Formats: sequence, C-alpha cells, structure tokens
Amino acid sequence: GGADAEYDMIVLGAGPGGYSAAFRAADLGLKTAIIERYSTLGGVCLNVGCIPSKALLHVAAVIEEAEHVDKAGIVFAKPSVDVDALRKHKDGVIGKLTGGLSGMAKARKVDILRGYGSFLDPNHLEIEETTGASQDKTGTKKVVKFRNCIIAAGSAAVHLPFLPRDPRIVDSTGALELRQVPGKMLVIGGGIIGLEMATVYSTLGARIDVVEMLDRLMQGPDADAVKVWEKQNAHRFDNIMLKTKTVAVEAKEDGLWVKFEGEKAPAEPVRYDMILQSAGRSPNGNKIGAEKAGVIVGERGFIPVDAQMRTNVPHIFAIGDIVGQPMLAHKAVHEGHVAAEVAAGHKAAFDATVIPGVAYTHPEVAWVGYTEAQAKAEGKKVDTAKFPWAASGRAIANGADYGFTKLIFDAETHRVIGGTIVGPSAGDMIGEVCLAIEMGADATDIGKTIHPHPTLGETVGMAAEVAHGSCTDLP
Ligand code: FAD
Repeated sequence: GGADAEYDMIVLGAGPGGYSAAFRAADLGLKTAIIERYSTLGGVCLNVGCIPSKALLHVAAVIEEAEHVDKAGIVFAKPSVDVDALRKHKDGVIGKLTGGLSGMAKARKVDILRGYGSFLDPNHLEIEETTGASQDKTGTKKVVKFRNCIIAAGSAAVHLPFLPRDPRIVDSTGALELRQVPGKMLVIGGGIIGLEMATVYSTLGARIDVVEMLDRLMQGPDADAVKVWEKQNAHRFDNIMLKTKTVAVEAKEDGLWVKFEGEKAPAEPVRYDMILQSAGRSPNGNKIGAEKAGVIVGERGFIPVDAQMRTNVPHIFAIGDIVGQPMLAHKAVHEGHVAAEVAAGHKAAFDATVIPGVAYTHPEVAWVGYTEAQAKAEGKKVDTAKFPWAASGRAIANGADYGFTKLIFDAETHRVIGGTIVGPSAGDMIGEVCLAIEMGADATDIGKTIHPHPTLGETVGMAAEVAHGSCTDLP
C-alpha cells in the first residue's frame, strides 16, 4: 500500500531534541514533519519537566528569600499560598512556551502529525491518532513515508513494581500537577528531580523524608558541594535515609504505610500522605516498533548511535534521552542539530567535551567536566582552586556567603577541565566554565578576563586567580 503523505524528514517525538532537529532540518530545506502524541509540542521538558519545575522553584525561592530578610530587619507576614492560582500560573508558563513552538513550526512549514507513531518498515511509520490530554487513541490510523527519520521519543519515569496504584503515589508528572500539599511526604530517590520537587513541596508546607539506596544525595557533583547543599536544606527534612530502600507500601485510608530496609530503615512502617517516586527514568526505545525498521535497541531500551547520531540503519537517527545519559534537554538539542545537519548532507558530529549538570534547588548546584572525585577515580593529575563565597562582597550582601566556586585544572597543561559552583544562580554561571573548557582556556585566560564587580559571576575569575597564585584585591 501507499502512504498518506511523504516527507524528506520525519521526527518521532516533539521534545527539545525533536523540535530542535525538525526546525534545523526544515531550515536546511528538508520537507519535515513531527509525530507527537501529546496535544502540545515541547515534550517532557516543556510540559512535565524542566519548565514547570522551574516555575514552581522560582516561587519557592521568592518565599524563602522573603523569610530570610528578617536578618536585614525586614519581616514579611507568613505567605498565604493559593495552590489553584499557583497551578494556573505554572500552566500559563507552559502554555506560552508550547504556543511559541507551534508558531515556530508553522513559520517553517513543519507539519505536526498528532498521534502515536510506530515503525512499519525502514521507510514507513504508522500514526494512530490520539486525542485529549490523556492521549486516548481514536482508532484512526495513517501511514507516512520518510526518506530520513530522527527518533526523539524520550524517556519515562521508572515505576517501582511493588507500589500500589493510588492517587497519593505520584511520579514527577503527578507531583508537578500540584493537586494538594501533603502533610508528610516521602521522596523515593535522592537525585535532582526528587530534590527539586522536595524543595517545592517543603516550601509550600510539607514535611519531607527522603530514601536513597546509595550512600549520598545527588550523585553528580563533588561531595563538598553536596555538603553545603545539605546544610542549607536541613530544615526541609525530618529524615534522610541513605543506603536504605522502600520494600513495601500499604495504601490505607489513613495514609500510605511504608516499610523500609537498610542502614537507616525505621523498625516500624512509617505513615505518609503522599509518595513521590523519582527513582530514575527509562528510555522509550522498546515502545516504537524499532525492530520493524531494523533499528537495534539495547537491552535497557537505549538506542545505540554513532557520532553522527545514526542508528545501525543509516537513514534513521536517534537523539536525546533515548540514546543515553545524561538525560538532559540541552544535550538533546545539540544532538538534534547534528542529526538534522547530517541528514541534510552536511558534515557534523556530536563532539561536546562537556555537558553541564544543574540542580535548580536552593542553593543551586552546578558542575561540568571533571569533578575531583572523577579525577581521583581515573588517576588523573589535577590542580584544584576553590574560591569561598565568604570572600565575595556580593555573596555576603546577598546572604549567600556559604557558597563556593571551584575550578579543576589539568596539572600538566594547566587548562581548566572542570568546575563546580554551589550557591544562588550557580546554573547561570556554570556556562562560563563550559565555554572555558571547550575553548581550552587556562587559569590565566580566565583570571585576566575582567568580570563585573560585584557579582557572583566574578567568583569564577577569582577562583582562576587563586589557581594562578595571585591574591584578589576586591572582596
Ligand atoms: P522528551 O522530552 O522525553 O520528548 C519525547 C517526546 O516524544 C514526548 O513529547 C512524547 O510524548 C513523544 N513520544 C514518545 N514516543 C512517541 C510515539 N511513539 N509517538 C508519538 N510521540 C511519542 N533537563 C534539563 O536539561 N534541565 C532541567 O531542569 C530538567 N528538569 C527536569 C525535571 C523533570 C521533572 C523531568 C522529568 C525531567 C527534567 N529534565 C531536565 C530532563 C529533560 O526533560 C529531558 O532530558 C528532555 O525532555 C529530553 O528530551 P527528548 O527530546 O529526548 O525527549
């Protein structure tokens, strides 16, 4: 049979990877379509990830900031929180961005094909139309033909098999719906997503416990940064249970009764009003009929690709969360650009030296490239320069003198190969360190660059001066 439509490029999934790839492909002259089951573009990141979480974290930061200016003689009344209005505000933020994306797709003549896509063979996809927010399938199907395809189908939250089905047990998507503010909340998994949601819910009034199988919270950055974070966030938590796991949950009318096992496990089951499971995300590789196109999918659902983002089938590419860690929007975007450019006949390769990570908590923790721990594990010789924010005028003025900026240098070449920042706006500042690493900058390059005073960003320059052996004149 024939196809209902034919394209030079079909992108499966409209997340940050997918829409970036589609827009680039269209800009390079390919007739392009995106298949998306959601009613809006933007994928996990815009609809149920990066953006709604940051909208809520911003509000939480404002509340906390107001609480802390009492030291400066300013006392606000206890904030009254209208959860319905807050939810509306968050949805409004999402709406602005997803609406903007639709406009950009239209301007580029990228067709949006609404529905659930799966491969029929190496050149055809079937789309089963979906409708409504719940993505119900309508039964209407069509077939589209492609010359090139980019798989950008993303990932989904891991659901622990022993958890009962109960509206009080949610994943990050459910937590972002902000249906209620519980009295007592358990966060399963002490990674960034769990800690960001813990920050939001605790600021809105919930008491939080965290259970984490590993021996520390937040796996990415160096332990010294996590230690600062823990001290600043101690007030949120009743109990942080490391090296411990949840083994059973009983949903009763009076609450969710949770049994734990491990080093910090309470002897008796503990009662919670809400549970957030944030124990990782798994790629959607096994849900798209990849085998019918001959595309190899790895054991855990990740799709192997080369530096051009090609799968084993040369005209089918894959990008974003579905190809591997780190599962981050900015990685997906860059991979998407590479795939589109290669498909359009250009020379391109994904060869980022570093991909930054950020916890958008209070304070923020941002890191990129080598950590001290990683250097040690690899036996790599490094020099470290740490600038404590207690010596930064702006940090003291802002009440953030607990933070620090740390740069890691290759001991032989003296080039910067890593950086960690903890403190407000750390995520905004780490970009300079990313650029320094990509450009091969050394301590002198950064230290001799004039940073504006007094800023938090100046601490990057000051850390470089520490490394350079000179002392700083401006506090
Ligand atoms: P996704 O965004 O997952 O998009 C995939 C799209 O494909 C979805 O829209 C899905 O509906 C669609 N799809 C899948 N299968 C099909 C199919 N068969 N047919 C049709 N459509 C399909 N990253 C950051 O960088 N910064 C952050 O601050 C951040 N915060 C996060 C907070 C939370 C709570 C979560 C859950 C994630 C966060 N992330 C963050 C991660 C980020 O959201 C992902 O890395 C990013 O969305 C991955 O982009 P992607 O294009 O690979 O796929």
